[in-house]
Amino acid sequence: ADRNPGQPEYLQAVSEVMESLWPFIGRHPKYAEHGLLDRLVEPERMIQFRVSWVDDHGDVQVNRGFRIQHSSAIGPYKGGLRFHPSVNASILKFLAFEQTFKNALTTLPMGGGKGGSDFDPKGRSPGEVMRFCQAFITELYRHIGADTDVPAGDIGVGGREVGYMAGMFKKLSNRADCVFTGKGLAFGGSLIRPEATGYGTVYFAQEMLQRQGRSFEGLRVSVSGSGNVAQYAIEKALALGAKVVTVSDSSGTVIDEDGFTTGKLAELMEVKNHLYGRVSDYAQRTKSNFHAGIRPWSVKVDVALPCATQNELDENDARTLVKNGVLCVAEGANMPSTLGAVQVFEQARVLYAPGKASNAGGVATSGLEMSQNAMRLSWPREEVDARLLGIMRGIHEACVQHGRRDDGSVSYVDGANVAGFVKVADAMLAQGVI
Ligand code: NDP
Repeated sequence: ADRNPGQPEYLQAVSEVMESLWPFIGRHPKYAEHGLLDRLVEPERMIQFRVSWVDDHGDVQVNRGFRIQHSSAIGPYKGGLRFHPSVNASILKFLAFEQTFKNALTTLPMGGGKGGSDFDPKGRSPGEVMRFCQAFITELYRHIGADTDVPAGDIGVGGREVGYMAGMFKKLSNRADCVFTGKGLAFGGSLIRPEATGYGTVYFAQEMLQRQGRSFEGLRVSVSGSGNVAQYAIEKALALGAKVVTVSDSSGTVIDEDGFTTGKLAELMEVKNHLYGRVSDYAQRTKSNFHAGIRPWSVKVDVALPCATQNELDENDARTLVKNGVLCVAEGANMPSTLGAVQVFEQARVLYAPGKASNAGGVATSGLEMSQNAMRLSWPREEVDARLLGIMRGIHEACVQHGRRDDGSVSYVDGANVAGFVKVADAMLAQGVI
């Protein structure tokens, strides 16, 4: 804590991982040597820079840009860019730290990184968004590259923004290598990448349920958020026969007791992805019930899929979910549950999957995009989807292997943390003290 003052999110993410690692390291003391843990909690490199740009009124705007290059132990830094006013060093350091373990879990050769800016895209014109992205890349471009650091999207950064940044990168570098993933299909993007995080989260939840002899068929599901991850989690949950009853954003929650349909989902995608609107706009168009200022967790469900942002589900929310009989919680977002909430789920033996395991499908498919670009070909949708499912099953297996409790149940928290750590730590030990 002394070395990272004022960085609560970073300390939270490190604490969660360390809780799982202490007993494991007690049994395997080689991982306490060579300053391994001290090195692992210190990002390899942190870049902070000024982004100045001119808005539609001709006024100069100044934002702060960041890239945290956390670990290159198993491959080039890899992780998304977030544009949101809350972005700061603490949030990006926690995301880069989590990303390092998540990327290891995918079994693909990718290190961990994360970046972004405190730029708020809400209310900005398309021209302003483009100029901001271009200004951001005029600095970031010197720090990234196909074998160095490969960014992608995250909150506030979707296909449109990745396109602007990849375009500016190409212009500045005069190279067309794969320096961004999440690109449009017309210029090197992979089929299934937009769907991958949401689909992967549901695939992971399906594996957890199947291990207990259950399926999604007929289960009630709550989803938070309404962005990229939330939309495709809903799509896959519907396809597996679930009844999805909520979506949300930072202003409130839509509760739909009749359940989402593919038609309503198409309406949500239109409002969010093309009109850049809010869930309240969606509610108005579909005459659904919008509840301002509340989160989805008081609604009685069998499965909860938090897909919005960090710390959106606290201890009280977790108690309410458990009281209402929740079976399974799979995180589409990064660290949406507070440490207190995680303890409640684990003590109640809820099937609880931390984001670094259940939302790894996005970065895994980014890894597949990198492979396809390197080979100069593109795989069909079915092939990418089958690989995604295979990777999510592999992560689930690794969690079960490393997270089995004495009573036969599985701590997916311990399983994900230990399995990710072992791969990164072995690579660090093999490469000496660097
Ligand atoms: P989007 O920008 O598409 O959607 C973000 C959603 O979260 C919006 O509904 C947004 O609502 C809500 N949200 C954001 N900040 C807050 C906040 N402070 N309070 C309440 N709600 C908030 O992002 P993604 O869907 O891509 O990302 C969602 C989560 O999934 C993030 O945690 C991200 O790190 C994680 N993730 C994303 C991956 C990807 O491939 N995209 C991969 C792995 C993880 P509002 O519009 O009101 O802000």
